[in-house]
Amino acid sequence: MKVILDNGHGVDTHGKRSPDGMFLEYAYTRKITKLVLTKLKRKGIEAVRLVPEENDILLRDRVKRANDICKSGGKGTILVSIHCNAMGDGEEWMPARGWSVYVAKTASEQSCRLATCLAKRAISKNVIVRYESSNQLYWKSNLYICKKTECPAVLVENFFMDNREDVDFMLSQEGMDCSTEIIVEGIMDYINTPDTGK
Ligand SMILES: [Zn+2]
Repeated sequence: MKVILDNGHGVDTHGKRSPDGMFLEYAYTRKITKLVLTKLKRKGIEAVRLVPEENDILLRDRVKRANDICKSGGKGTILVSIHCNAMGDGEEWMPARGWSVYVAKTASEQSCRLATCLAKRAISKNVIVRYESSNQLYWKSNLYICKKTECPAVLVENFFMDNREDVDFMLSQEGMDCSTEIIVEGIMDYINTPDTGK
């Protein structure tokens, strides 16, 4: 099996930053992606970065890359796209906070199981987690990357970049460790739980 890690956006993506410009989504998601990659490799899990470049890669090119890896990676290959959330347009600080995970509206059972594994790990940390209901610990949305990728795929919205408390947390060592561990531990839970084949 292989884990495909997609870091959101590039240095040239418009917006995607905190209102004070101190927090940049592309930079943060690359940092977390690299930490997740290193930790997974240490656990003997093969992981690859979908976008090693610093610039933005078109979604359709990302999907093509992901599906090429899905084909060569064999059964059990999964994709985790790492992003940060925003409530507003980035002009001012907003009240919404917390971590959440998304799947496509057409998500497979495995995608939902992967999202649940991540959400359970997030809930086990001392952070705010946003989810649809206690029966569904993830959100369903029309996400191109999740919908078009041929292997199980989830998108993590790693706290809010237009909330001051969330930004302070994300930039702290505790926040970076937390963001990384939720993804690594969630992936390990997914791998270690037998697939019921539903
Ligand atoms: Zn994003």
